[in-house]
Amino acid sequence: MIYLTQQKLVLGAVFEHAKRPLTPVEICEEARKKLPSLGIATVYRAIKQFVDEGQVRAVDVPGAAPHYESTARHHHHFFLCQQCKRLFDLIGCVRGVKSLAPNGFRVKQHEIVLYGECASCVTEGE
Ligand SMILES: [Zn+2]
Ligand SMILES: [Zn+2]
Repeated sequence: MIYLTQQKLVLGAVFEHAKRPLTPVEICEEARKKLPSLGIATVYRAIKQFVDEGQVRAVDVPGAAPHYESTARHHHHFFLCQQCKRLFDLIGCVRGVKSLAPNGFRVKQHEIVLYGECASCVTEGE
């Protein structure tokens, strides 16, 4: 039996519509638009359940706080803004990464992270 609370439905929708990986605090802020009384502890609990169920994964980017995203997303990479610490999805991948591995090595996965400033931080700095 699948038991969905209203909180889980709202939080699930936040993940579904997110354009970039979100921190628990960002997820909570977004979900509060629909459920103003939502607490951060509930958000953490729901995230843990989503991860256990395989619907959401933790995004592990060096230098970034833990972010989460839907597992329905295709292969992609990230841009970490060093000013506002937000993570953004990159579109596409780099060709030829596998050719960097020494002869005879088998590449199974790769991570690419770009670091810098996002468009709004660049504008603010001008
Ligand atoms: Zn930024
Ligand atoms: Zn890639």
